[in-house]
Amino acid sequence: MKLAVIEGDGIGREVIPEAVKVLDAFGLDIEKVPLELGYARWEKTGTAMSGKDLKTIKRCDAVLFGAITTVPDPNYKSVLLTIRKELNLYANIRPIKPLPGVIGITGRSDFNLVIVRENTEGLYSGIEEVGPDISWTKRIITRKGSERIAACACKLAKKRKNKLTIVHKSNVLKSDKLFLDVCRQTASAHGIDYSDMLVDSMAYSLMMHPEKYDVIVTTNLFGDILSDMCAALVGSLGLVPSANIGEKYAFFEPVHGSAPDIAGKGIANPIATILCVKMLLEWMGETRSQVIDDAIAEVLQKKIITPDLGAKSSTIEVGNAVAEYVKNSLMQE
Ligand code: ATP
Repeated sequence: MKLAVIEGDGIGREVIPEAVKVLDAFGLDIEKVPLELGYARWEKTGTAMSGKDLKTIKRCDAVLFGAITTVPDPNYKSVLLTIRKELNLYANIRPIKPLPGVIGITGRSDFNLVIVRENTEGLYSGIEEVGPDISWTKRIITRKGSERIAACACKLAKKRKNKLTIVHKSNVLKSDKLFLDVCRQTASAHGIDYSDMLVDSMAYSLMMHPEKYDVIVTTNLFGDILSDMCAALVGSLGLVPSANIGEKYAFFEPVHGSAPDIAGKGIANPIATILCVKMLLEWMGETRSQVIDDAIAEVLQKKIITPDLGAKSSTIEVGNAVAEYVKNSLMQE
């Protein structure tokens, strides 16, 4: 198994080494291929990612990714969007699950949901024009794109509660009528108990009653926004992992970005990225991945916690504690 490891920019450089420590604790036969990509490299060399880098990534089976700063410069092409398109990573899966002892903004911990976000279409089509008086972006919804994301969400729903919520804005955006219809048909064909919600009502409902939802499927931008919002439900953006899955490749990244406001201070929460390692291990079929949840629970209980959760531990202290627990537990097995 070959794993591309991309730290990227900002706190990506701080959280990835901690996640790698945890991965190494499993002692698996994984060849790590480090790649330096992103805005910092673009500033130095004028290229954020070369064609050669892309080929190297395509020769790997999976990618562990930190974060890359995206700047609003017309000459800067988003590395993340390019990789998602090139590797055809059409499904972005974002589990929203409270961690023991961490209470989010609503004070509740009785929910456990997953956002399945379409990752290649919608408002991230990249088809746009910027002018002095008018700028536009084309929002693309296709039958094929909607079918495959709906099928992915249904597969996940089958493993969970057989329940799916389709989130859209088809009353205003006519393109979403196609998305909604295809999702309904796919859910019916898979025998999934489904309902649908307008995205604005959904945002409110998720804050009021997150326990009502299980698997949520939605378009690209809505999924991006709802999942950041749901990070507040679990207590920090530093706690939410994600997997980008395609037919062939898988790409794991925390939901948070490069957080320039805290970069270099050694205080970024590495738990989201460590949970990405858990998702990677599950994708590989590694049955011992559950030990990562146990390790995180133990570390939280011991209050080895970064400032976003109200304590003073460093990124490295949290990473070391989780990796140590994993190593010790696996040795006892
Ligand atoms: P980018 O431009 O790369 O998206 P951003 O600052 O706009 O960066 P995020 O990186 O997602 O967006 O950060 C949003 C807020 O959440 C920031 O205040 C940041 O400090 C905080 N944050 C994000 N990730 C973490 C983390 N792992 N630990 C602690 N705080 C975090």
